[in-house]
Amino acid sequence: MNNFSYVRVASVEDAVQRAATDQAAMFIAGGTNLVDRMKVFLDQPSQLIDISRLELSRIEPTREGGLQIGALVTNTALADHPTVRRDYPILTRAILAGASQQIRNMATVGGNLMQRTRCPYYYDTVFACNKRQPGTDCAAVAGINRMHALFGASNHCIAVHPSDMCVALAALDAVVAVEGPQGKRQLPFVEFHRLPGETPQHDTNLEPGELITTVTLPPASFAKSGVYLKLRDRASYSFALVSVAAALALSDGQIREARLAMGGVAHKPWRSTGAEQFLIGKSAEEATFRQAAEVALEGAQPLPHNGYKVELTKRAVRRALTVSAKGGGIV
Ligand code: SF4
Repeated sequence: MNNFSYVRVASVEDAVQRAATDQAAMFIAGGTNLVDRMKVFLDQPSQLIDISRLELSRIEPTREGGLQIGALVTNTALADHPTVRRDYPILTRAILAGASQQIRNMATVGGNLMQRTRCPYYYDTVFACNKRQPGTDCAAVAGINRMHALFGASNHCIAVHPSDMCVALAALDAVVAVEGPQGKRQLPFVEFHRLPGETPQHDTNLEPGELITTVTLPPASFAKSGVYLKLRDRASYSFALVSVAAALALSDGQIREARLAMGGVAHKPWRSTGAEQFLIGKSAEEATFRQAAEVALEGAQPLPHNGYKVELTKRAVRRALTVSAKGGGIV
């Protein structure tokens, strides 16, 4: 590990100002991904700006009937919060599907959004990786790519985003508030992460020095039927091969509202608005869900080793929609 300086800040303004004046500085809170990356020299910050004592650990109702979540709320606190469990159970289920209890106790909401891919070639510095070192090539393209993307990849990077929480947040139309050298702004969740294109070293649309302060959930009557289905190589402490966040609101057996997002299939949580549009107004039955799964996987571009993900994701979508139509719950 290279030498770096460490400072604990007491205000968002101080954090932002320090990051703005030192482009090689990084924010640290729970550190559950960053410290791992530093140990293998993936990140070599000049300075760690410890934001863990900032007052960003509250979960509060909004005037509109939604919920505002501070960026430093831990995964455990968010998953266990009574309002989240009651009104946004899809979020609780997604969080509890990820990592281990010990990691969830340390990891924060903001950090979850900022975690980086677990592509094995990114972590192993023996291999070429455009995300780690732009312009060096992508070892996964000709390598073992069974874990990699179906949608939105480029020749420069075929990695997937690793988060479970973020898939649920995409389905819930969350909004991310950030503060930076140019002031405050808000990003719709689906615009927070980016596709790799020719610059896979950038995972998000954050500007230099910007800090996530809150994530806001709008009121969502459909969310109580939310389902999170994660399929993985082993039953716990494993990243998704594919995952699905689905929620339906029904009236007399007809689908009034639909949300569908998929994880493990792209460089960002992959919201399928096409499948959502297809579902609205249809009868909540197996044939509808089967067709919706086909729509959701339209445009998938499997790689040499991940063709299985196409059928696996279709089945996961059908299953998640079926359970949601029955009111949600554990899949
Ligand atoms: Fe690196 Fe992306 Fe290629 Fe993985 S898929 S080796 S992260 S460039």
